[in-house]
Amino acid sequence: MRLIRSFWNWLGAFFHSIRFRLTMWFVLILAIVLTVFSAFIYLAQARDLRYDAARAMQDKFGRLQAYFHSPEWQNSNLAPSDVPNTEAPLQQNDLLILTDPGGHVVQNWGNELQNPGPLIAALLETRNQPPHELTVYQQSVTVTDDDHNRTTGDYLFIISSVLRGDTLIGYLIIGSPSQLNDQLARLMASLVFGSLGMLAIAFFGGLWLADRAMRPVQTIARTAQIISESDLNRRIHMKGRDELAELAGTFDDMLSRLQAAFDRQRRFVADASHELRTPLTIMNLEVSRILSGHRSSGEYQHALQIVNAEGKRMTRLVNDLMTLARMDAGQTILQFENLDLSDVTVEAVERMSALAEEQKVQIEMRDLPELHVHGDRQYLIQMVSNLIENAIKYGGPNQTVQIQTGRTQDKATLRVSDTGPGIPPEHLPHLFDRFYRVDQARTRHSDEGPSFPDGSGLGLSIVAWIVQSHGGEIHVESKVNEGTTFEVTLPLAK
Ligand code: ADP
Repeated sequence: MRLIRSFWNWLGAFFHSIRFRLTMWFVLILAIVLTVFSAFIYLAQARDLRYDAARAMQDKFGRLQAYFHSPEWQNSNLAPSDVPNTEAPLQQNDLLILTDPGGHVVQNWGNELQNPGPLIAALLETRNQPPHELTVYQQSVTVTDDDHNRTTGDYLFIISSVLRGDTLIGYLIIGSPSQLNDQLARLMASLVFGSLGMLAIAFFGGLWLADRAMRPVQTIARTAQIISESDLNRRIHMKGRDELAELAGTFDDMLSRLQAAFDRQRRFVADASHELRTPLTIMNLEVSRILSGHRSSGEYQHALQIVNAEGKRMTRLVNDLMTLARMDAGQTILQFENLDLSDVTVEAVERMSALAEEQKVQIEMRDLPELHVHGDRQYLIQMVSNLIENAIKYGGPNQTVQIQTGRTQDKATLRVSDTGPGIPPEHLPHLFDRFYRVDQARTRHSDEGPSFPDGSGLGLSIVAWIVQSHGGEIHVESKVNEGTTFEVTLPLAK
């Protein structure tokens, strides 16, 4: 029972498969072509055969006429069927009938008609229809030969009037066995069986071809079934340059992109939890330590300062994470407007002035010409603020941060330079990666005081995202012990 059901399912799937449908279309088209072709061949051949048969009968009649005018007939009165040469007007199985004007048989040579009455009537009828003379008429008749053997078969007949002067004295009927129907039946059989054979070959051949052509699709489907979220490194690796190989290639590329996205996501979650765990651990340790005994008010104050600083760091980290998550999800909607990049820069500098003062850093604003760009004010201020904040934080105290805007061709540029310790060249390519920090160890210890540079390594990735979503570019130049310059270029508004 299960076997029958699974066979039934297989049959259902087979009938719905593209392989089967392709094959059936192929066979259907071939069947139409074969039918048209066979019909054409059959009709042309039938016309030719009929024409040839009629010509042969007319020739025979011509020869007979000539014979009746010849001295052989006049002298010997030898029956036309008995003339002993190859040009004899009548051949074996032919028959010749002479009738009176009323259609009654007067004389018969050769094979004898079994029941000549209806045939003669029909022949006289055809004779009266155009084109009158020498119309070839086909009829199945029964004849008796000289040895009294009876045979039934198709005969061709020609009827002609016999005149003496202008007076009709009778009709002459010639009959000759016809192969026409046999030949046409044989032709029809060959065409029908030949076509059916070809269709059968086309069906199985087509199925085989379609199966071959569809095999790569099955491979792709099977790979897609096997691939799960945890096993994204599988690929189809199909060879060849056809459409399916192209599809498989596209599929592989998509898998690579998905894998990269999943990896990024996984790393992001791991990094984020790691980043959150550190301040939480510090806070827990500090609180446990201070609660474990009697402490002075100075110690309580110090502990609270540490908890406060870690809390701030966590708040900032969570904010950055939310910003990035929203950016990744495409939920960040930028409110584009025409604005002046120098204006934005001044606003960002004002925001950072308290931090600069705290770090005893001097901010020096150079040329700030009017630069119209198309952008989101809040995000652009955040971008410039992050760069200035980094320059203050990582450039170290008692230095000068230079800020300058300008234009090159159709681009607005912004440069933020510091005279700090700089960044070693090996770190530069990774600077905009998430959670990337140049000096992991240094930024970790917040017990060195709340004012010490701390960060999670997300600031520059947010900066890069903002610049890119404004159609701009960001570059960094840095020399160790000399300083670092970040340069942002944005397209000028038209
Ligand atoms: P964070 O959010 O922690 O500040 P960023 O993504 O802004 O992280 O910066 C990544 C790293 O790049 C920082 O850890 C820092 O070491 C380095 N960096 C950024 N700006 C400067 C700069 N002006 N001078 C020196 N190092 C810098």
